[in-house]
Amino acid sequence: MPPPNPTLNTTLPAMALALGMALSSAAMGQDAQTPKTYKLAPPPPCTNNKGETVRFIDSSSGRPGLAAGMADRDSSGRPVVLRSNYTTTPPEFQNFIDRHECAHHQTGDIDRPHPPRNGPEHLMNESISDCVAILRLRDEEGYDRAAINRVTAAMRNDMAKIGFPEISIASRISNIDKCFTRRGSPRDLINKILKKRGLLQP
Ligand SMILES: [Zn+2]
Repeated sequence: MPPPNPTLNTTLPAMALALGMALSSAAMGQDAQTPKTYKLAPPPPCTNNKGETVRFIDSSSGRPGLAAGMADRDSSGRPVVLRSNYTTTPPEFQNFIDRHECAHHQTGDIDRPHPPRNGPEHLMNESISDCVAILRLRDEEGYDRAAINRVTAAMRNDMAKIGFPEISIASRISNIDKCFTRRGSPRDLINKILKKRGLLQP
């Protein structure tokens, strides 16, 4: 049982709920079977709430065999999404992680104080990012219900691997299923959040 990695724990702001816990919960051990690999999906366009272009950077750090994303600013202050081990998960889920992390930049999460981990505000931010990601896949990539089901199947698989309880997995997926039927564009949702936060540019 390796100790939690302190470097990763200090770089958690705005990480996906599941993925954040993946990186900090180092107690799970390695997978025995040889993992299947997939084609690397191209990253989507992503601009943050201040109009800055977000760069996507591939890496093989993080927990081996587990695809994870992290939205942050680099040491020069430029907005980035770190893509860890993406080829271990199907391209549809890679696309979802990219858009979820991008949403943390689009909604301004990255530059706001990080709410307590797994508290209500944090979970709300994660739900919003999940929702923006699903709306982008629906409206920009033409994902139908079947494609969304493949995203949530991969998500379920990863969350279970990490050790999330069924209730967390089910509630996250239920939010995503609901978002798929939501009226309005991803931009509408982002603007609603920015407005509420006083971050909407005129
Ligand atoms: Zn997140």
